[in-house]
Amino acid sequence: MLSKNLSLSLYLHIPFCRHRCAYCDFNTYTSLGDLQSAYAAALAAEIQQVAGGVRRPAHTVFLGGGTPSLMAPADLAHILTAVQTHFALADDAEVTMEANPGTVDEAYLAAVRAAGINRISFGVQSAIPTELVLLEREHDFATAVTAVHMARAVGITNLNLDLIYGVPGQTMASWQQSLQAVLALQPPHLSLYCLTIEPGTPMKRWLENGRMSPPDPDFAADQYEYACDVLAGQEYDHYEISNWARPGYACEHNLTYWRNGSYLGLGAGAHGHAAGHRYQVVKQPRVYMRRLQSETPPGFPLSTAVAESHPLTREEAMTDTIITQLRLLAEGLDLAAFAHTFGQSFTEAFHDTAAQLVDWELLTVADGRARLTRRGWFLSNQVFYRFIEG
Ligand code: SF4
Repeated sequence: MLSKNLSLSLYLHIPFCRHRCAYCDFNTYTSLGDLQSAYAAALAAEIQQVAGGVRRPAHTVFLGGGTPSLMAPADLAHILTAVQTHFALADDAEVTMEANPGTVDEAYLAAVRAAGINRISFGVQSAIPTELVLLEREHDFATAVTAVHMARAVGITNLNLDLIYGVPGQTMASWQQSLQAVLALQPPHLSLYCLTIEPGTPMKRWLENGRMSPPDPDFAADQYEYACDVLAGQEYDHYEISNWARPGYACEHNLTYWRNGSYLGLGAGAHGHAAGHRYQVVKQPRVYMRRLQSETPPGFPLSTAVAESHPLTREEAMTDTIITQLRLLAEGLDLAAFAHTFGQSFTEAFHDTAAQLVDWELLTVADGRARLTRRGWFLSNQVFYRFIEG
């Protein structure tokens, strides 16, 4: 079997939603639903362009959004057939689709499974009605429970459930209730995200005009600590800062990101990292589709829809390696591999920063690896910022 180091991961962006949630700053559009089939055709064209006639090996595909579960099964099949035609997709490839619980029924899930989807990530977010209303999610928790049961009924058992903490008004009791409610569903994988309030979102305006009180980071840290303890007692492996998996269910696609591996970003607004380049595809779906009509692709890994790309400098590649691999809590940064790749040891290259972080008990350097400490898990963004600033 080919090493996964030499095999690609493919991220495919689906930029359609029925409604924009109050905290969302993703590249998604609520008024372009009639473009979906044409968009699927454009995505298939981009897949062909990027491949450029070479069937490179790939081991994961991730349809993210937006709301991929708004796409008709025939459109998803069109996209996944293009992947299989133009890439040598491993027989055991992980093919994930993000789904909103309120957008699926059993017939739909059976159809997407037939199209090749074998893992679903459901955006559950909370089990508490008032929190779902504040977030402006369109489903209630009962709908999420039904969606999980329906996915299992059609044979999709590799499931992730997302929850959000740090929500204004959330209490420790309501957080415990959400966590226990999703654990009762026995998901093999859980992602717990801290709410961030981004510029330009309705929630940001609510903060500015006093309609909503700001989230409390200390309370969010307590919620995170609570979840870490509960999940450790339930035999979940806390393998990444925000992700827990039962044995054998770690997300292979996201592991590519966290090992700083090569992935192609396809679809409007997608980011990619391959062949020593980082790049971003144009964000606006109509512009994206127009750009793909051009017949002079720049060559792997770029398509005619790429808006910006640049070769990584050695310094960027070093920093990227550190801040992606430190996300993996047990695996951490492999110091020998780092020195081999960059011809300089981690402690030589980042001596002062590393020493300071060790001193602050946010980082350990031992047994050939650098790892975040437990204290560093919740403060990881501050750790990463130190490396970026050098
Ligand atoms: S469903 Fe997801 S992508 Fe769509 S608006 Fe809500 S948070 Fe954003």
